[in-house]
Amino acid sequence: MDIEFDKLIALQEIDNEIKALHHLLDLTPHKLSEIDQKIALAQDIVQKSKEKLLQNQKKRRELEGEVAVIKSKIATYKRQLNEVKTNKEYTALLKEIEEAQKKVDALEEEIIAALLEADDIEKEIQQAKENFLKEETRYLKEKEALLQRQQEGQNRLQALVRKREDLVNLMAQEQLALYNRIAEKKGGIAISPVTDDFCSMCHVRIRPQVLNELYDMKKIYLCENCGRILYLSPERKEKKQEGAKKAVSSARNSIK
Ligand SMILES: [Zn+2]
Repeated sequence: MDIEFDKLIALQEIDNEIKALHHLLDLTPHKLSEIDQKIALAQDIVQKSKEKLLQNQKKRRELEGEVAVIKSKIATYKRQLNEVKTNKEYTALLKEIEEAQKKVDALEEEIIAALLEADDIEKEIQQAKENFLKEETRYLKEKEALLQRQQEGQNRLQALVRKREDLVNLMAQEQLALYNRIAEKKGGIAISPVTDDFCSMCHVRIRPQVLNELYDMKKIYLCENCGRILYLSPERKEKKQEGAKKAVSSARNSIK
């Protein structure tokens, strides 16, 4: 029985593509969650600047509260000015009022600084929101493309699995079993084309005797080094044919 190299090659091609698709599909959930993380991060920046504004407002209210307390103290002192009996008491009160007023001035400066800071923070929030919207749009597009590729990959995978079943049903059982055994042991690659005179998977040189036998396609030869099923690559076959023609013509020439 001829060795059906065309079927073995087709099977290997299908299996290679299935493997690549599995790899791609396995990566998809991770890539999707990476995108979600990036979106969350952009949103987090908006959130953080909003919190900063809240902090700023809280600080301002505290400062304003302090000012109110001191101002009411000042009002009390001023009322007391009318009631004091001695010059000394009067001077002392004036001193208190002056000190308190200094505190109020300092606090009011802090309030103004906080107000200015609030303006900056609001700009920051606006910028963060714009960034977020822009990035979210981009990430959602990436996500959509990824999901589409996932769907296409799944469809392709299903089609390949069906194609593989059909092919496997047409194959000689012994050849298929050998293929499966080797594929399992050799990382999914069961066959290896011989290009030039070498096994293209492990690069070991193939003996001329084996090369001749491969050309006949009557028997399966395994690479002596990596154990994979060898077959002649189309280029190698052509070379062999040319070699044969040359041999024939030189033989003819020598007869003449
Ligand atoms: Zn090899």
